[in-house]
Amino acid sequence: MNWYKKAYKYGIENKKDIKTLVENLKISISKMFNLSLPETEKKLIKIHEERINAVPDLIKYPELKGMQERIIEENRGIMDSVSLTYGEIAILRNYRYITNIVSPGPIYKGNDCTLVYFADSSDGPIIGNNIDDWKERIWQRIPKEPLIVKKNLKFWWGNVSAGIFYDEIPPEKFPLENRIFEVMEEHCENLKAAVEFLIRYKFFWGGQNAMIIEKKTKEGVIIEKSSCRYGIRKMENGTLYTTAMSFADPKMKEYLAGRRMERIIKKGEKWNESIEAEYWDGCDKRYENLARLVKEKSKNPSLKSIIEILQNHSPFPDCICLHGQGRTNIELDHTNYTIASIITLPMRKKQIIWTCSEKKFACQSEPVWREIVEK
Ligand SMILES: [Zn+2]
Repeated sequence: MNWYKKAYKYGIENKKDIKTLVENLKISISKMFNLSLPETEKKLIKIHEERINAVPDLIKYPELKGMQERIIEENRGIMDSVSLTYGEIAILRNYRYITNIVSPGPIYKGNDCTLVYFADSSDGPIIGNNIDDWKERIWQRIPKEPLIVKKNLKFWWGNVSAGIFYDEIPPEKFPLENRIFEVMEEHCENLKAAVEFLIRYKFFWGGQNAMIIEKKTKEGVIIEKSSCRYGIRKMENGTLYTTAMSFADPKMKEYLAGRRMERIIKKGEKWNESIEAEYWDGCDKRYENLARLVKEKSKNPSLKSIIEILQNHSPFPDCICLHGQGRTNIELDHTNYTIASIITLPMRKKQIIWTCSEKKFACQSEPVWREIVEK
């Protein structure tokens, strides 16, 4: 496989989006570190080189043989096709590591925030997904038409962010991030093997909640993950569900609560007066409501019932569809919107998408059907 050529082609096809993303990241990271733009690039180059040279023990992680060369070649391909500096590629490759942001899932793109799965509905297996974000970011979050996915995939997977303050620092820092799911797809044959693999590689990914489904059996799990810990939730009545910034596994829940309390103490705030704590409590309430809704709708699973879950408007903070309630960024006064609801019918190779605009919430817009093309 010529990794340089492949990445070069990807860079040419996505030049404008990658350029814009890098420009935005540069500004937000320089603000985060309180550094000038050149200083920011310098800092990220240092982080990048430390990580790329931290090649893990290949006896313990044999699936990573050749991965360092592959990443270096891919970076060169992107740099050359998009005309990025070395500092800019370092920003692009490491911003998730430094900001703990999770990327959208690589298969049915746009996975973030809320995920619901019905294995056996009157419309076949269905995956529902809400993308919640600031309105400004809509341009970078909506999958392209047609959605091109790899042929003969063994798994469907997606993820939502977990956002844990003061999380433990894992002993591995090699830059795998969400490439972990591609490596899983390459090396694992069934769900059992995939779960074992993701646990063996636990120091390379998280915090995020991941949904992994084996295409052949339609069986799946949710793995709730911090940088070093995990909890596994199995299917219940043929359903899986998860949402952002919250855990349902009791041990993970307890861990998260401790991390959050530490944040509040360090900021010198009181829990019941903290805007952040209000937001986190809301995420936990959304998870509880999601569990209730999924249980209720699993009695009669269908396309219609999954729409009703994604567009649920219980009073805030329980609501699944968000209309700008709840502040996610205190400094910038950003609020959260469900900028898109996406339902995937993988066996029919189709997606339905509701997208928000300046005038309408996503749930008020006309849905658009999209093709999924396997290549
Ligand atoms: Zn709505």
